[in-house]
Amino acid sequence: MSEECLFCRIVSGEIPGDVVHESDTTLAFRDIEPQAPTHVLVVPKVHLPTIAALGAAEPGLLADLVAAADAVAEQEGLGSGYRLVFNTGPDAQQSVLHVHGHVIGGRSMGWPPG
Ligand code: AMP
Repeated sequence: MSEECLFCRIVSGEIPGDVVHESDTTLAFRDIEPQAPTHVLVVPKVHLPTIAALGAAEPGLLADLVAAADAVAEQEGLGSGYRLVFNTGPDAQQSVLHVHGHVIGGRSMGWPPG
């Protein structure tokens, strides 16, 4: 855990999150600024900054994170599809350096994203 990390503080319960799914290794909670009818963030409980760091350090945990994202999508009724986005680094405007997948759905989404 990183004391300064927002998502570590949500995982520990110090800051409240609107939690929709939890496993032994992951937590999923609603984004406070949703970009679609469903917008949930899925995070590992351990602090790792990016999806690349997660995949290098703990590939099994990366699989857990993808499985949790899919479980959230099913729970949220996103049977017609969803987007799973991992913003990585400054050009992608990653604002929280604790790896998180955005599960976005509930509306039709164009490509490339606007
Ligand atoms: P990113 O820009 O990919 O790093 O995404 C960070 C996301 O965290 C943004 O979509 C924010 O709206 C979201 N966010 C920031 N603070 C909170 C919070 N306290 N609870 C839930 N989501 C948050």
